[in-house]
Amino acid sequence: MTAPLDVLVVGGGPTGLALAAQLRTYGTSFRIVDRSLDRVRESRALAIQPRTLEMLAGFGVTDELIACGNPAVELRMHLPRRVVRMPLFDIGLADTAYPFLLFLSQAETERILSEHLAGQGVTVERGTELARLERTGTSVSCRLRNIDGAEETVVARYVVGCDGAHSTVRAQAGIGFQGYSYPQTFLLADLEVDGLEPGAVHTYMSGAGMLLFFPLGSPATWRMLAMRPPNAPDTEVGLRLLQDTADEYTEDRLVLRDPVWMTDFRLHNRGAAHYRSGPFFLAGDAAHIHSPAGAQGMNTGIQDALNLGWKLALVCRGAAPENLLETYEAERTPVGRSVLRFTDRAFTLGTSGNPVIRFARTRLAPRLAPLALRASGPRGRVFRTVSELGIHYRRSPATVAGPQLPRRGPRAGDRLPDLPSGLQARTAGPGWHLLLSGPPALWSGELLASVVRGRDDLISVHRLGQESPWPAVAHGLVRPDGYLGYVARGADLERLRAYLDRWLPPQRR
Ligand SMILES: Cc1cc2nc3c(=O)[nH]c(=O)nc-3n(C[C@H](O)[C@H](O)[C@H](O)COP(=O)(O)OP(=O)(O)OC[C@H]3O[C@@H](n4cnc5c(N)ncnc54)[C@H](O)[C@@H]3O)c2cc1C
Repeated sequence: MTAPLDVLVVGGGPTGLALAAQLRTYGTSFRIVDRSLDRVRESRALAIQPRTLEMLAGFGVTDELIACGNPAVELRMHLPRRVVRMPLFDIGLADTAYPFLLFLSQAETERILSEHLAGQGVTVERGTELARLERTGTSVSCRLRNIDGAEETVVARYVVGCDGAHSTVRAQAGIGFQGYSYPQTFLLADLEVDGLEPGAVHTYMSGAGMLLFFPLGSPATWRMLAMRPPNAPDTEVGLRLLQDTADEYTEDRLVLRDPVWMTDFRLHNRGAAHYRSGPFFLAGDAAHIHSPAGAQGMNTGIQDALNLGWKLALVCRGAAPENLLETYEAERTPVGRSVLRFTDRAFTLGTSGNPVIRFARTRLAPRLAPLALRASGPRGRVFRTVSELGIHYRRSPATVAGPQLPRRGPRAGDRLPDLPSGLQARTAGPGWHLLLSGPPALWSGELLASVVRGRDDLISVHRLGQESPWPAVAHGLVRPDGYLGYVARGADLERLRAYLDRWLPPQRR
Protein backbone atom coordinates (compact mmCIF):
# COMPACT_ATOMS: atom_id res chain seq x y z
CA MET A 1 0.00 0.00 0.00
CA THR A 2 1.42 3.38 -1.03
CA ALA A 3 0.93 6.75 0.71
CA PRO A 4 -2.62 8.20 0.42
CA LEU A 5 -3.19 10.58 -2.46
CA ASP A 6 -5.41 13.60 -2.77
CA VAL A 7 -6.52 12.69 -6.30
CA LEU A 8 -6.23 9.68 -8.60
CA VAL A 9 -6.69 10.70 -12.24
CA VAL A 10 -7.82 7.73 -14.34
CA GLY A 11 -7.06 8.19 -18.04
CA GLY A 12 -4.29 10.06 -19.81
CA GLY A 13 -6.23 11.34 -22.83
CA PRO A 14 -6.62 15.11 -23.40
CA THR A 15 -9.00 15.46 -20.42
CA GLY A 16 -6.76 13.64 -17.94
CA LEU A 17 -3.65 15.46 -19.19
CA ALA A 18 -5.29 18.88 -18.76
CA LEU A 19 -6.49 17.95 -15.27
CA ALA A 20 -3.02 16.75 -14.29
CA ALA A 21 -1.50 20.02 -15.56
CA GLN A 22 -3.83 22.03 -13.34
CA LEU A 23 -3.34 19.85 -10.25
CA ARG A 24 0.42 20.14 -10.74
CA THR A 25 0.16 23.96 -10.77
CA TYR A 26 -1.30 23.88 -7.25
CA GLY A 27 1.05 21.22 -5.87
CA THR A 28 -1.78 18.71 -5.24
CA SER A 29 -0.62 15.15 -4.53
CA PHE A 30 -1.94 13.00 -7.37
CA ARG A 31 -1.15 10.17 -9.78
CA ILE A 32 -2.34 9.78 -13.35
CA VAL A 33 -2.68 6.27 -14.79
CA ASP A 34 -3.63 4.98 -18.23
CA ARG A 35 -4.19 1.40 -19.27
CA SER A 36 -2.71 1.86 -22.75
CA LEU A 37 1.05 1.62 -23.21
CA ASP A 38 1.32 4.56 -25.55
CA ARG A 39 -0.56 7.77 -26.09
CA VAL A 40 -2.93 8.14 -29.05
CA ARG A 41 -1.15 8.18 -32.42
CA GLU A 42 -4.29 8.67 -34.55
CA SER A 43 -5.56 12.15 -35.28
CA ARG A 44 -9.14 11.66 -33.83
CA ALA A 45 -10.28 15.10 -32.58
CA LEU A 46 -8.96 17.55 -35.11
CA ALA A 47 -9.76 21.08 -33.94
CA ILE A 48 -9.10 23.27 -30.91
CA GLN A 49 -11.60 26.02 -30.12
CA PRO A 50 -10.61 29.59 -29.11
CA ARG A 51 -11.79 29.12 -25.49
CA THR A 52 -9.61 26.02 -25.09
CA LEU A 53 -6.60 27.91 -26.49
CA GLU A 54 -7.27 30.69 -23.95
CA MET A 55 -7.52 28.26 -21.05
CA LEU A 56 -4.41 26.30 -22.01
CA ALA A 57 -2.43 29.54 -22.33
CA GLY A 58 -2.00 29.52 -18.54
CA PHE A 59 0.26 26.44 -18.89
CA GLY A 60 2.33 28.14 -21.60
CA VAL A 61 1.44 25.55 -24.28
CA THR A 62 -0.85 27.56 -26.54
CA ASP A 63 1.93 29.12 -28.64
CA GLU A 64 3.28 25.67 -29.44
CA LEU A 65 -0.18 24.33 -30.29
CA ILE A 66 -0.65 27.22 -32.70
CA ALA A 67 2.84 26.79 -34.19
CA CYS A 68 2.08 23.11 -34.93
CA GLY A 69 -1.51 23.68 -36.10
CA ASN A 70 -3.34 25.09 -39.02
CA PRO A 71 -5.94 27.88 -38.58
CA ALA A 72 -8.85 27.62 -41.03
CA VAL A 73 -10.50 30.86 -41.97
CA GLU A 74 -13.08 29.83 -44.54
CA LEU A 75 -15.87 27.35 -45.18
CA ARG A 76 -16.61 26.48 -48.81
CA MET A 77 -20.01 24.98 -49.50
CA HIS A 78 -19.89 23.17 -52.84
CA LEU A 79 -23.37 23.49 -54.34
CA PRO A 80 -24.57 21.99 -57.64
CA ARG A 81 -23.64 24.98 -59.79
CA ARG A 82 -21.48 27.19 -57.55
CA VAL A 83 -19.35 27.43 -54.46
CA VAL A 84 -20.45 29.64 -51.54
CA ARG A 85 -17.54 30.93 -49.47
CA MET A 86 -18.24 31.71 -45.84
CA PRO A 87 -15.62 33.31 -43.58
CA LEU A 88 -15.16 31.38 -40.33
CA PHE A 89 -14.98 33.13 -36.95
CA ASP A 90 -14.71 36.57 -38.61
CA ILE A 91 -17.35 38.10 -36.35
CA GLY A 92 -18.33 37.88 -32.67
CA LEU A 93 -14.82 37.09 -31.49
CA ALA A 94 -13.27 40.52 -30.96
CA ASP A 95 -12.47 39.82 -27.31
CA THR A 96 -10.07 36.91 -27.74
CA ALA A 97 -6.41 36.69 -28.71
CA TYR A 98 -7.26 33.50 -30.67
CA PRO A 99 -10.11 34.31 -33.10
CA PHE A 100 -9.74 31.15 -35.19
CA LEU A 101 -10.45 27.44 -35.22
CA LEU A 102 -7.10 25.68 -34.93
CA PHE A 103 -6.81 22.40 -36.79
CA LEU A 104 -4.38 20.11 -35.02
CA SER A 105 -4.47 16.35 -34.66
CA GLN A 106 -5.32 14.99 -31.21
CA ALA A 107 -2.02 13.08 -31.30
CA GLU A 108 -0.15 16.40 -31.44
CA THR A 109 -2.32 18.01 -28.76
CA GLU A 110 -1.62 15.07 -26.46
CA ARG A 111 2.11 15.17 -27.28
CA ILE A 112 2.34 18.84 -26.36
CA LEU A 113 0.37 18.40 -23.12
CA SER A 114 2.42 15.29 -22.19
CA GLU A 115 5.70 17.11 -22.79
CA HIS A 116 4.50 20.01 -20.66
CA LEU A 117 3.71 17.56 -17.83
CA ALA A 118 7.06 15.81 -18.20
CA GLY A 119 8.74 19.23 -17.90
CA GLN A 120 6.85 19.66 -14.62
CA GLY A 121 8.06 16.28 -13.36
CA VAL A 122 4.73 14.48 -13.92
CA THR A 123 4.74 11.03 -15.54
CA VAL A 124 1.62 9.40 -16.93
CA GLU A 125 1.82 5.85 -15.56
CA ARG A 126 1.09 3.84 -18.68
CA GLY A 127 0.16 0.20 -18.81
CA THR A 128 -1.67 0.72 -15.48
CA GLU A 129 -5.37 0.03 -15.36
CA LEU A 130 -7.90 0.95 -12.72
CA ALA A 131 -9.59 -2.36 -11.92
CA ARG A 132 -11.80 -1.64 -8.92
CA LEU A 133 -12.93 1.12 -6.59
CA GLU A 134 -14.19 0.80 -3.05
CA ARG A 135 -15.30 3.55 -0.69
CA THR A 136 -13.71 3.31 2.72
CA GLY A 137 -14.93 6.01 5.12
CA THR A 138 -13.75 9.36 3.80
CA SER A 139 -11.49 7.94 1.12
CA VAL A 140 -11.43 5.48 -1.77
CA SER A 141 -9.44 2.31 -2.11
CA CYS A 142 -8.37 1.95 -5.75
CA ARG A 143 -7.13 -1.34 -7.13
CA LEU A 144 -4.61 -0.78 -9.92
CA ARG A 145 -3.41 -3.55 -12.21
CA ASN A 146 -0.20 -3.27 -14.16
CA ILE A 147 0.21 -4.72 -17.62
CA ASP A 148 2.64 -7.29 -16.17
CA GLY A 149 -0.10 -8.52 -13.83
CA ALA A 150 1.21 -6.84 -10.66
CA GLU A 151 -1.55 -5.28 -8.53
CA GLU A 152 -1.40 -2.37 -6.14
CA THR A 153 -3.90 -0.64 -3.87
CA VAL A 154 -3.87 3.14 -3.76
CA VAL A 155 -5.91 5.17 -1.30
CA ALA A 156 -7.15 8.50 -2.65
CA ARG A 157 -9.47 11.17 -1.36
CA TYR A 158 -10.99 11.76 -4.80
CA VAL A 159 -10.99 9.80 -8.07
CA VAL A 160 -11.59 11.51 -11.41
CA GLY A 161 -12.71 9.35 -14.30
CA CYS A 162 -11.15 10.82 -17.43
CA ASP A 163 -11.28 7.31 -18.81
CA GLY A 164 -13.34 7.82 -21.92
CA ALA A 165 -16.63 6.52 -23.27
CA HIS A 166 -16.36 3.08 -21.57
CA SER A 167 -15.38 4.61 -18.22
CA THR A 168 -14.57 2.18 -15.43
CA VAL A 169 -14.97 4.96 -12.85
CA ARG A 170 -18.49 5.68 -14.14
CA ALA A 171 -19.42 1.99 -13.94
CA GLN A 172 -17.90 1.49 -10.48
CA ALA A 173 -19.59 4.63 -9.17
CA GLY A 174 -22.91 3.34 -10.51
CA ILE A 175 -23.58 6.43 -12.61
CA GLY A 176 -25.90 5.90 -15.59
CA PHE A 177 -24.98 6.86 -19.16
CA GLN A 178 -28.20 7.47 -21.03
CA GLY A 179 -28.69 8.17 -24.69
CA TYR A 180 -28.75 6.44 -28.06
CA SER A 181 -26.62 5.35 -30.97
CA TYR A 182 -27.07 6.70 -34.49
CA PRO A 183 -27.83 4.07 -37.12
CA GLN A 184 -25.37 5.39 -39.71
CA THR A 185 -21.75 4.34 -40.07
CA PHE A 186 -19.12 6.96 -40.88
CA LEU A 187 -15.96 6.90 -42.89
CA LEU A 188 -12.96 8.81 -41.63
CA ALA A 189 -9.59 9.19 -43.32
CA ASP A 190 -6.49 11.36 -43.09
CA LEU A 191 -5.14 11.59 -46.63
CA GLU A 192 -4.06 13.70 -49.61
CA VAL A 193 -6.64 15.10 -52.02
CA ASP A 194 -5.98 16.55 -55.48
CA GLY A 195 -8.46 19.22 -56.53
CA LEU A 196 -9.19 20.93 -53.20
CA GLU A 197 -8.17 24.52 -52.43
CA PRO A 198 -6.00 24.54 -49.28
CA GLY A 199 -6.75 26.49 -46.08
CA ALA A 200 -10.53 26.01 -46.05
CA VAL A 201 -13.12 23.53 -44.78
CA HIS A 202 -14.99 22.03 -47.76
CA THR A 203 -18.53 20.63 -47.55
CA TYR A 204 -20.56 18.75 -50.15
CA MET A 205 -24.23 17.98 -49.54
CA SER A 206 -26.54 15.45 -51.16
CA GLY A 207 -29.67 13.52 -50.40
CA ALA A 208 -27.41 10.79 -48.99
CA GLY A 209 -25.78 13.04 -46.41
CA MET A 210 -22.65 15.19 -46.21
CA LEU A 211 -19.02 14.90 -47.20
CA LEU A 212 -16.50 17.10 -45.40
CA PHE A 213 -12.81 17.81 -45.81
CA PHE A 214 -10.89 19.59 -43.04
CA PRO A 215 -7.42 21.14 -43.48
CA LEU A 216 -5.64 18.99 -40.88
CA GLY A 217 -2.05 19.60 -42.02
CA SER A 218 -0.44 16.67 -40.20
CA PRO A 219 -0.19 13.62 -40.42
CA ALA A 220 -1.86 14.33 -43.80
CA THR A 221 -3.12 17.46 -45.49
CA TRP A 222 -6.82 16.54 -45.27
CA ARG A 223 -9.27 14.83 -42.90
CA MET A 224 -12.20 13.31 -44.81
CA LEU A 225 -15.47 12.55 -43.02
CA ALA A 226 -18.54 11.10 -44.75
CA MET A 227 -21.47 8.87 -44.16
CA ARG A 228 -20.77 5.35 -45.42
CA PRO A 229 -23.13 4.94 -48.42
CA PRO A 230 -25.88 2.45 -47.53
CA ASN A 231 -25.24 0.54 -50.78
CA ALA A 232 -21.44 0.36 -50.24
CA PRO A 233 -19.96 -3.18 -50.09
CA ASP A 234 -19.45 -4.41 -46.54
CA THR A 235 -15.66 -4.47 -46.89
CA GLU A 236 -12.86 -3.02 -44.81
CA VAL A 237 -12.33 0.68 -45.37
CA GLY A 238 -9.89 1.19 -48.24
CA LEU A 239 -8.96 3.89 -50.73
CA ARG A 240 -11.39 2.47 -53.32
CA LEU A 241 -14.38 2.86 -50.98
CA LEU A 242 -13.28 6.38 -49.99
CA GLN A 243 -12.86 7.41 -53.65
CA ASP A 244 -16.24 5.94 -54.62
CA THR A 245 -17.87 7.79 -51.73
CA ALA A 246 -16.23 11.09 -52.67
CA ASP A 247 -17.26 10.59 -56.32
CA GLU A 248 -20.92 10.28 -55.31
CA TYR A 249 -20.85 13.75 -53.80
CA THR A 250 -18.37 15.56 -56.08
CA GLU A 251 -19.05 14.14 -59.55
CA ASP A 252 -15.51 12.77 -59.88
CA ARG A 253 -13.79 16.11 -59.31
CA LEU A 254 -11.39 14.99 -56.57
CA VAL A 255 -8.61 12.42 -56.53
CA LEU A 256 -7.91 10.83 -53.16
CA ARG A 257 -4.50 9.29 -52.40
CA ASP A 258 -1.90 8.38 -49.74
CA PRO A 259 -4.17 7.65 -46.77
CA VAL A 260 -2.35 7.71 -43.42
CA TRP A 261 -5.29 6.54 -41.30
CA MET A 262 -8.68 5.14 -42.38
CA THR A 263 -11.46 3.79 -40.26
CA ASP A 264 -15.20 3.55 -39.95
CA PHE A 265 -17.16 4.13 -36.78
CA ARG A 266 -20.61 4.57 -35.29
CA LEU A 267 -21.64 7.68 -33.41
CA HIS A 268 -23.54 7.98 -30.15
CA ASN A 269 -25.26 10.66 -28.11
CA ARG A 270 -25.00 9.88 -24.41
CA GLY A 271 -24.59 11.81 -21.20
CA ALA A 272 -23.80 10.77 -17.64
CA ALA A 273 -26.73 11.12 -15.22
CA HIS A 274 -24.33 12.88 -12.81
CA TYR A 275 -20.82 14.26 -13.10
CA ARG A 276 -20.18 13.52 -9.42
CA SER A 277 -21.09 10.82 -6.95
CA GLY A 278 -19.41 11.34 -3.56
CA PRO A 279 -15.64 11.14 -4.09
CA PHE A 280 -16.00 10.14 -7.78
CA PHE A 281 -16.01 12.68 -10.63
CA LEU A 282 -16.44 12.25 -14.37
CA ALA A 283 -14.94 14.48 -17.04
CA GLY A 284 -14.59 14.40 -20.84
CA ASP A 285 -15.88 11.44 -22.85
CA ALA A 286 -16.62 9.60 -19.59
CA ALA A 287 -19.36 12.20 -19.04
CA HIS A 288 -20.57 12.91 -22.61
CA ILE A 289 -20.15 11.48 -26.09
CA HIS A 290 -21.72 12.87 -29.24
CA SER A 291 -21.18 13.46 -32.94
CA PRO A 292 -18.08 15.44 -34.00
CA ALA A 293 -20.31 18.19 -35.49
CA GLY A 294 -18.86 21.52 -34.40
CA ALA A 295 -15.62 20.04 -32.99
CA GLN A 296 -16.81 20.16 -29.39
CA GLY A 297 -15.84 16.77 -27.86
CA MET A 298 -12.21 17.10 -26.85
CA ASN A 299 -12.66 20.82 -26.14
CA THR A 300 -15.53 20.21 -23.75
CA GLY A 301 -13.48 17.53 -21.99
CA ILE A 302 -10.47 19.81 -21.50
CA GLN A 303 -12.76 22.53 -20.16
CA ASP A 304 -14.45 20.08 -17.77
CA ALA A 305 -10.98 19.29 -16.43
CA LEU A 306 -10.04 22.94 -16.02
CA ASN A 307 -13.31 23.67 -14.20
CA LEU A 308 -12.67 20.83 -11.75
CA GLY A 309 -8.91 20.85 -11.20
CA TRP A 310 -8.57 24.08 -9.21
CA LYS A 311 -11.61 23.24 -7.09
CA LEU A 312 -10.12 19.87 -6.10
CA ALA A 313 -6.74 21.52 -5.49
CA LEU A 314 -8.12 24.21 -3.18
CA VAL A 315 -10.35 21.79 -1.26
CA CYS A 316 -7.48 19.31 -0.82
CA ARG A 317 -5.17 21.95 0.59
CA GLY A 318 -7.91 23.12 2.98
CA ALA A 319 -8.22 26.55 1.34
CA ALA A 320 -11.82 26.08 0.16
CA PRO A 321 -14.86 24.32 1.64
CA GLU A 322 -15.86 20.89 0.39
CA ASN A 323 -19.09 22.23 -1.11
CA LEU A 324 -17.07 24.10 -3.75
CA LEU A 325 -16.89 20.68 -5.43
CA GLU A 326 -20.67 20.63 -5.84
CA THR A 327 -20.37 23.54 -8.24
CA TYR A 328 -18.55 21.31 -10.75
CA GLU A 329 -21.72 19.41 -11.60
CA ALA A 330 -23.86 22.56 -11.34
CA GLU A 331 -21.64 24.38 -13.84
CA ARG A 332 -20.63 21.65 -16.27
CA THR A 333 -23.78 19.52 -16.72
CA PRO A 334 -25.67 22.36 -18.46
CA VAL A 335 -22.68 22.77 -20.80
CA GLY A 336 -22.57 19.02 -21.51
CA ARG A 337 -26.33 18.87 -22.14
CA SER A 338 -26.24 21.82 -24.48
CA VAL A 339 -23.39 20.21 -26.48
CA LEU A 340 -25.42 16.99 -26.76
CA ARG A 341 -28.44 18.96 -28.04
CA PHE A 342 -26.50 21.15 -30.45
CA THR A 343 -24.42 18.35 -31.98
CA ASP A 344 -27.53 16.19 -32.36
CA ARG A 345 -29.35 18.92 -34.31
CA ALA A 346 -26.37 19.61 -36.56
CA PHE A 347 -25.89 15.89 -37.12
CA THR A 348 -29.56 15.30 -37.98
CA LEU A 349 -29.57 18.20 -40.44
CA GLY A 350 -26.45 16.89 -42.15
CA THR A 351 -27.38 13.22 -42.41
CA SER A 352 -31.09 12.54 -42.02
CA GLY A 353 -32.96 10.68 -44.76
CA ASN A 354 -36.28 12.24 -43.63
CA PRO A 355 -37.75 13.88 -46.79
CA VAL A 356 -38.31 17.26 -45.07
CA ILE A 357 -34.77 17.43 -43.69
CA ARG A 358 -33.34 16.18 -46.99
CA PHE A 359 -35.22 18.96 -48.75
CA ALA A 360 -33.85 21.51 -46.27
CA ARG A 361 -30.30 20.23 -46.79
CA THR A 362 -30.28 19.91 -50.56
CA ARG A 363 -32.71 22.65 -51.68
CA LEU A 364 -33.14 25.21 -48.91
CA ALA A 365 -29.58 25.36 -47.56
CA PRO A 366 -28.08 26.38 -50.95
CA ARG A 367 -30.62 29.24 -51.19
CA LEU A 368 -30.27 30.31 -47.57
CA ALA A 369 -26.47 30.20 -47.44
CA PRO A 370 -25.93 33.61 -49.14
CA LEU A 371 -28.55 35.18 -46.83
CA ALA A 372 -26.90 33.61 -43.80
CA LEU A 373 -23.65 35.18 -44.93
CA ARG A 374 -25.20 38.64 -44.80
CA ALA A 375 -26.92 38.14 -41.42
CA SER A 376 -23.97 39.11 -39.27
CA GLY A 377 -25.89 38.96 -35.95
CA PRO A 378 -26.92 35.28 -36.14
CA ARG A 379 -23.55 34.32 -37.64
CA GLY A 380 -21.75 36.01 -34.74
CA ARG A 381 -23.93 34.15 -32.25
CA VAL A 382 -23.20 30.82 -33.93
CA PHE A 383 -19.44 31.46 -33.87
CA ARG A 384 -19.65 32.57 -30.25
CA THR A 385 -21.33 29.27 -29.34
CA VAL A 386 -19.09 27.00 -31.39
CA SER A 387 -15.91 28.74 -30.19
CA GLU A 388 -17.07 28.01 -26.59
CA LEU A 389 -16.38 31.66 -25.70
CA GLY A 390 -20.08 32.06 -24.91
CA ILE A 391 -20.01 29.53 -22.03
CA HIS A 392 -20.93 31.20 -18.75
CA TYR A 393 -21.79 30.16 -15.20
CA ARG A 394 -24.14 33.02 -14.31
CA ARG A 395 -26.53 30.70 -12.49
CA SER A 396 -23.87 28.93 -10.45
CA PRO A 397 -23.72 29.34 -6.65
CA ALA A 398 -20.00 30.05 -7.09
CA THR A 399 -20.70 33.25 -9.04
CA VAL A 400 -22.40 36.22 -7.40
CA ALA A 401 -23.42 39.64 -8.70
CA GLY A 402 -22.81 42.59 -6.35
CA PRO A 403 -25.60 44.92 -5.15
CA GLN A 404 -24.93 47.29 -8.05
CA LEU A 405 -23.70 46.21 -11.44
CA PRO A 406 -21.40 48.09 -13.81
CA ARG A 407 -23.44 49.48 -16.73
CA ARG A 408 -21.26 47.68 -19.26
CA GLY A 409 -18.65 44.95 -19.24
CA PRO A 410 -18.55 41.32 -18.13
CA ARG A 411 -20.87 40.06 -15.40
CA ALA A 412 -20.40 37.54 -12.60
CA GLY A 413 -20.25 34.08 -14.20
CA ASP A 414 -18.86 35.35 -17.54
CA ARG A 415 -15.40 34.54 -18.73
CA LEU A 416 -12.99 37.43 -18.32
CA PRO A 417 -12.69 38.73 -21.89
CA ASP A 418 -9.35 39.62 -23.39
CA LEU A 419 -10.59 43.13 -24.08
CA PRO A 420 -8.70 45.34 -23.57
CA SER A 421 -6.15 42.97 -24.99
CA GLY A 422 -3.61 41.55 -22.53
CA LEU A 423 -6.11 41.30 -19.68
CA GLN A 424 -6.12 37.50 -19.74
CA ALA A 425 -2.31 37.29 -19.79
CA ARG A 426 -2.24 39.54 -16.74
CA THR A 427 -4.53 37.19 -14.84
CA ALA A 428 -3.15 33.89 -16.15
CA GLY A 429 -1.15 33.04 -13.01
CA PRO A 430 -2.52 30.47 -10.52
CA GLY A 431 -5.03 31.53 -7.89
CA TRP A 432 -7.69 34.23 -7.87
CA HIS A 433 -7.27 37.73 -9.30
CA LEU A 434 -8.94 40.79 -7.84
CA LEU A 435 -9.41 43.50 -10.48
CA LEU A 436 -9.90 47.05 -9.19
CA SER A 437 -11.14 49.58 -11.70
CA GLY A 438 -11.00 53.34 -11.04
CA PRO A 439 -8.56 55.86 -9.52
CA PRO A 440 -5.72 53.89 -7.81
CA ALA A 441 -5.97 56.03 -4.61
CA LEU A 442 -9.48 54.66 -4.08
CA TRP A 443 -8.16 51.18 -3.49
CA SER A 444 -5.38 51.71 -0.98
CA GLY A 445 -5.94 51.33 2.71
CA GLU A 446 -7.05 49.04 5.46
CA LEU A 447 -10.35 47.93 3.87
CA LEU A 448 -8.60 46.29 0.90
CA ALA A 449 -5.90 44.81 3.13
CA SER A 450 -8.49 43.33 5.49
CA VAL A 451 -10.42 41.71 2.63
CA VAL A 452 -7.32 39.99 1.28
CA ARG A 453 -5.71 39.15 4.66
CA GLY A 454 -5.44 35.45 5.46
CA ARG A 455 -5.78 34.45 1.78
CA ASP A 456 -3.12 36.66 0.21
CA ASP A 457 -1.13 33.64 -1.06
CA LEU A 458 -4.11 32.81 -3.32
CA ILE A 459 -5.23 36.31 -4.42
CA SER A 460 -3.32 38.69 -6.68
CA VAL A 461 -4.54 42.29 -6.71
CA HIS A 462 -4.50 44.31 -9.95
CA ARG A 463 -5.27 48.03 -10.10
CA LEU A 464 -6.55 48.73 -13.62
CA GLY A 465 -6.64 52.02 -15.47
CA GLN A 466 -7.49 52.22 -19.17
CA GLU A 467 -7.18 48.45 -19.40
CA SER A 468 -10.27 47.86 -17.26
CA PRO A 469 -13.18 45.96 -18.87
CA TRP A 470 -15.63 48.16 -16.89
CA PRO A 471 -16.25 51.83 -17.73
CA ALA A 472 -16.33 53.19 -14.14
CA VAL A 473 -15.35 52.40 -10.58
CA ALA A 474 -15.91 48.67 -10.17
CA HIS A 475 -14.30 45.54 -8.81
CA GLY A 476 -14.32 41.96 -10.00
CA LEU A 477 -12.83 38.73 -8.77
CA VAL A 478 -11.53 36.33 -11.41
CA ARG A 479 -11.58 32.66 -10.45
CA PRO A 480 -8.61 30.40 -11.20
CA ASP A 481 -10.38 29.17 -14.38
CA GLY A 482 -10.72 32.68 -15.84
CA TYR A 483 -14.44 33.14 -15.04
CA LEU A 484 -15.65 36.04 -12.91
CA GLY A 485 -16.81 34.86 -9.49
CA TYR A 486 -17.94 38.28 -8.29
CA VAL A 487 -18.54 41.66 -9.98
CA ALA A 488 -19.86 44.91 -8.50
CA ARG A 489 -19.91 48.60 -9.27
CA GLY A 490 -18.34 51.00 -6.75
CA ALA A 491 -15.67 50.59 -4.11
CA ASP A 492 -17.58 49.03 -1.23
CA LEU A 493 -15.87 45.68 -0.70
CA GLU A 494 -18.10 44.26 2.03
CA ARG A 495 -20.13 41.96 -0.25
CA LEU A 496 -16.90 40.81 -1.87
CA ARG A 497 -15.63 39.93 1.60
CA ALA A 498 -18.76 37.83 2.18
CA TYR A 499 -18.21 36.04 -1.15
CA LEU A 500 -14.60 35.30 -0.24
CA ASP A 501 -15.49 34.18 3.28
CA ARG A 502 -17.77 31.61 1.68
CA TRP A 503 -15.45 30.22 -0.99
CA LEU A 504 -11.95 31.15 0.19
CA PRO A 505 -12.15 31.61 3.95
CA PRO A 506 -9.17 33.32 5.63
CA GLN A 507 -6.61 30.90 6.98
CA ARG A 508 -5.33 31.15 10.57
CA ARG A 509 -1.52 31.07 10.61
C1 LIG B 1 -12.24 7.25 -34.34
C2 LIG B 1 -12.47 8.51 -33.57
C3 LIG B 1 -12.60 9.71 -34.24
C4 LIG B 1 -12.84 10.88 -33.53
N1 LIG B 1 -12.97 12.04 -34.23
C5 LIG B 1 -13.23 13.19 -33.55
C6 LIG B 1 -13.37 14.42 -34.24
O1 LIG B 1 -13.27 14.48 -35.47
N2 LIG B 1 -13.63 15.55 -33.51
C7 LIG B 1 -13.77 15.50 -32.13
O2 LIG B 1 -13.99 16.54 -31.48
N3 LIG B 1 -13.62 14.34 -31.48
C8 LIG B 1 -13.37 13.21 -32.13
N4 LIG B 1 -13.23 12.05 -31.46
C9 LIG B 1 -13.47 12.09 -30.00
C10 LIG B 1 -12.25 12.52 -29.22
O3 LIG B 1 -11.20 11.64 -29.56
C11 LIG B 1 -12.62 12.48 -27.74
O4 LIG B 1 -13.64 13.46 -27.49
C12 LIG B 1 -11.45 12.75 -26.83
O5 LIG B 1 -10.42 11.80 -27.03
C13 LIG B 1 -11.92 12.68 -25.38
O6 LIG B 1 -10.82 12.76 -24.53
P1 LIG B 1 -10.85 12.06 -23.12
O7 LIG B 1 -9.50 12.34 -22.53
O8 LIG B 1 -12.05 12.48 -22.36
O9 LIG B 1 -11.02 10.50 -23.39
P2 LIG B 1 -10.08 9.52 -24.21
O10 LIG B 1 -9.29 10.24 -25.22
O11 LIG B 1 -10.94 8.39 -24.65
O12 LIG B 1 -9.04 9.00 -23.12
C14 LIG B 1 -9.41 8.07 -22.14
C15 LIG B 1 -8.15 7.35 -21.67
O13 LIG B 1 -8.50 6.55 -20.54
C16 LIG B 1 -7.79 5.33 -20.62
N5 LIG B 1 -8.56 4.35 -19.85
C17 LIG B 1 -9.79 3.86 -20.10
N6 LIG B 1 -10.16 3.02 -19.13
C18 LIG B 1 -9.15 2.97 -18.23
C19 LIG B 1 -8.93 2.26 -17.01
N7 LIG B 1 -9.85 1.44 -16.49
N8 LIG B 1 -7.77 2.43 -16.35
C20 LIG B 1 -6.81 3.27 -16.85
N9 LIG B 1 -6.97 3.96 -18.02
C21 LIG B 1 -8.12 3.81 -18.69
C22 LIG B 1 -7.74 5.04 -22.13
O14 LIG B 1 -6.64 4.19 -22.41
C23 LIG B 1 -7.57 6.42 -22.72
O15 LIG B 1 -6.22 6.76 -22.94
C24 LIG B 1 -12.96 10.87 -32.12
C25 LIG B 1 -12.80 9.65 -31.45
C26 LIG B 1 -12.55 8.48 -32.15
C27 LIG B 1 -12.37 7.20 -31.38
